[in-house]
Amino acid sequence: QENLFQKVVAHAKEYGFVFPSSDIYGGLQAVYDYGSNGAELKNNIKKYWWAAMVQMHENIVGLDSSIFMDSKTWKASGHVDAFNDPLIDNKDSKKRYRADVLIEDHMAKYEAKIEKEVAKGKKRFGDDFDTEQFLATNPNVLRNKAKIEEIETRFKKALEAEDLADIKQIILDNNIVCPISGTANWTDVRQFNLMFSTEMGSLADDSNRIYLRPETAQGIFVNFLNVLKTSRMKVPFGIAQIGKAFRNEIVARQFIFRMKEFEQMEMQFFVKPGTEMKWYNYWKDARMKWHHAIANDNEDYRYHDHLKCAHYANAAVDIEFKFPFGIKELEGIHSRTDYDLGAHQDLSGKKLQYFDTEENKNLVPYVVETSVGLDRMFLSVLTAAYTEETVKDGDKEKQRTYLKIHPALAPTKAAIFPLTKKDGLPDKAREVMKELKYDFNVSYEEKDAIGKRYTRQDLIGTPYCITVDHQTLEDNTVTVRERDTMDQFRMPIAELHSFLDKKASL
Ligand code: ATP
Repeated sequence: QENLFQKVVAHAKEYGFVFPSSDIYGGLQAVYDYGSNGAELKNNIKKYWWAAMVQMHENIVGLDSSIFMDSKTWKASGHVDAFNDPLIDNKDSKKRYRADVLIEDHMAKYEAKIEKEVAKGKKRFGDDFDTEQFLATNPNVLRNKAKIEEIETRFKKALEAEDLADIKQIILDNNIVCPISGTANWTDVRQFNLMFSTEMGSLADDSNRIYLRPETAQGIFVNFLNVLKTSRMKVPFGIAQIGKAFRNEIVARQFIFRMKEFEQMEMQFFVKPGTEMKWYNYWKDARMKWHHAIANDNEDYRYHDHLKCAHYANAAVDIEFKFPFGIKELEGIHSRTDYDLGAHQDLSGKKLQYFDTEENKNLVPYVVETSVGLDRMFLSVLTAAYTEETVKDGDKEKQRTYLKIHPALAPTKAAIFPLTKKDGLPDKAREVMKELKYDFNVSYEEKDAIGKRYTRQDLIGTPYCITVDHQTLEDNTVTVRERDTMDQFRMPIAELHSFLDKKASL
């Protein structure tokens, strides 16, 4: 699996998906740029999200708020005082770690053991295997589950009490060692605020301090009244936004999984107090369906209910994805109560309320949030898509690598090839391009043998290759070759548009 991850990272760079930032200077830690194919994939994920949220819901509208906000925003939201990570240094390796990540990685080892048991059980009992019953009764599973629960409960308590000494003790008691030095020679745990700050204007005193937003959500909260007044929305309704967020992540690792500059796709859904759990469950379900709709394997996703909620939430669940380096958070769904609007109301002195016609009074709405990292989503799509297989090549066998990206998300929907550079085939192929390029991202290629061109398109996940040959000149049909099955069939040029529309549109 780790090996797979390294391959995906290398592939992403080699085929124009993701480059380290400032690459010619050696790369900037945990900051990345998206290349030609990466930018397309990223845009398609955004479109897919925006369509599912804003276009498909009559009661959700979009917003594009600025990155810079009045610093009071972050005071009210709790980020100035509470957006901290507990850090610990290993004195031998001189490496810095987030204590919570060390502990979570440790717990993941017990989860992996449980998964191994389940896999063994499945193998032994075949179709008769009852996963739920196995999880509830198998002694090895129960032992590992108890261990996870013990650590999680203690850790939650320590976090809530901000008991940094106990967080260190949890690390020591569980024999968690530095992955580099293999030792437990640690400094004390200390808190570290994740917000980047700078000064606005010329005076470098504290009143000019301004933060790069660590989440897009607050831009939505401070615009609640503006949107309510201008959009004709009535509670329950949502505001959706896609935008950059910045966190000074210390343990920035795992490629684009944890970045210092990243993008979020967030939607805040404003509801009548008391109805939040209904909407929380609605969004929990709706968001999983959204992931499944483009998934290669639904089994790659699971819910993880939070035992510990952030300071602003009364219920929280993660949608987790099976990344090559472990099962990790992809999206968070949080019932945020009236924490944010209430706090902004207190600090700004503005009433952030709506008139509830049933109660006949003004109320601060409750909020259910869905928040997914665009870059993390990108990584999940890329890792699930990376496929190596052995295929027949005449009498021999050969390795084939391709990206099995859902056609709606694929950077290029179709590549159009003239079979040869002669006999008017390039002109005909250009005509086909013209038919399609207004509605689909298509590309044209005439270099090298057809087989080589197929291979190049496979590597960037193009779902269809369209070849114009001599028969095309006679009957206006082309050969369509499918990426996943490598099947080929003929189709009239006149049908290509509706074919791609059906197969490769959102
Ligand atoms: P984590 O526990 O992994 O740090 P989080 O719980 O702090 O994440 P949220 O604050 O809930 O994350 O942010 C919502 C989503 O934004 C996450 O589910 C994730 O997809 C994305 N995200 C958060 N931090 C980062 C980051 N540093 N790099 C990339 N994506 C991120």
